Amino acid sequence: MLGLNSFKDKKVMTFLAHPNDEVLGCGGLLSRAKGDGAQIFCVIPVKRIFQSCYNVMEKLDARVAWGHFDDNEMDKYPLLEVCEFFEDYIKQIKPDIVITHHYNCANQDHRVCYKAASIVTKPIKGQIQLLSCEVPSSTGYLRPSNFEPNLYVGLSYEELNDKLDMLKMYKSELRADRSEEVVKALACLRGAESGNDLAEGFMLVRGYC
Ligand SMILES: [Zn+2]
Repeated sequence: MLGLNSFKDKKVMTFLAHPNDEVLGCGGLLSRAKGDGAQIFCVIPVKRIFQSCYNVMEKLDARVAWGHFDDNEMDKYPLLEVCEFFEDYIKQIKPDIVITHHYNCANQDHRVCYKAASIVTKPIKGQIQLLSCEVPSSTGYLRPSNFEPNLYVGLSYEELNDKLDMLKMYKSELRADRSEEVVKALACLRGAESGNDLAEGFMLVRGYC
């Protein structure tokens, strides 16, 4: 068991490039984690600060930290600099679970986050489960996409509604390829693949039992 049946007493950290990735990629998981009593921390490396993000954090009872990296230009920095930025939060928070991007996302900032997260969560001082989430409008556009979920988080209708409510908070960021309809359809698809009514799909990058 990976200990993911319940998020009770767990510290869940996201290392996702942009505000709204946390909702699109794992808003359902975070809603479920909050319901289980987890502590949630969102580390957002780019300096694209949105009031909407604070509203989402309030809904999740989550803490947020922002970085100094230029938006959509994270690949211009040495990977070591991104690793050091993220590692500070790993040391402070000591998360049980880190959720980051998929290594083959179309967005370059996403790919940098994946690399840094997979490096700084290596099991030197403790074991951190590392998951990649899928972000509609980015994951899957670079072909072959190679995103094949092997870990499904079943969601209740209430948890999906929480995700949709948070998505609406980022109204200015909504587009045809990451609309409410797309998010609902993906939750149904991942649910059908996993014997649930609704689910989010993840790839387990590194897990322990
Ligand atoms: Zn993003």
